[in-house]
Amino acid sequence: MSKLDIITIPDPILRKLALPVERVDDDLRRLADGMLEAMYEAPGIGLAAPQVGVSRRLIVLDVSDKEDEKKPLVMVNPEIVTRSDERRIYEEGCLSIPDVKVEIERPAAITVRYLDREGLQQELSAEALLATAIQHEVDHLDGRLIIDFLTRLKRDIIIRRFRKQARTDA
Ligand code: ZN
Repeated sequence: MSKLDIITIPDPILRKLALPVERVDDDLRRLADGMLEAMYEAPGIGLAAPQVGVSRRLIVLDVSDKEDEKKPLVMVNPEIVTRSDERRIYEEGCLSIPDVKVEIERPAAITVRYLDREGLQQELSAEALLATAIQHEVDHLDGRLIIDFLTRLKRDIIIRRFRKQARTDA
């Protein structure tokens, strides 16, 4: 697969509700591998399929902090099934909104159900950074972005900046 480009706002695909993946096959695995490659290169800790222009429910993640200990996760049709009452704040960034950081409070621990790259049903309990990263990526599948946690005023300023940038680049 040729190298995948990461799409930035205000591309409308980032706002679409992504459709479920129907079959976990070689094409999907190739897409997941390409997404992991793009994510590592960026570098980032998570990427959702809509960010490479594919409006399907697929995310990849790796929150390990050492280059030599890669722990890639591929989640197909992820669904968050439990959320803790305890919440935690992280400063989040997004590869689709370069140079913007937003402090976001989310449930500190979650359980996520998904299909792995072999198409097998898995359930994973996650906390800390991994829990936040999964919630961030699942938000992408629902067209939700970190700037949606800001006030409307702040959000509009950022969107306007990226729109202007997109026009300049065009
Ligand atoms: Zn993101």
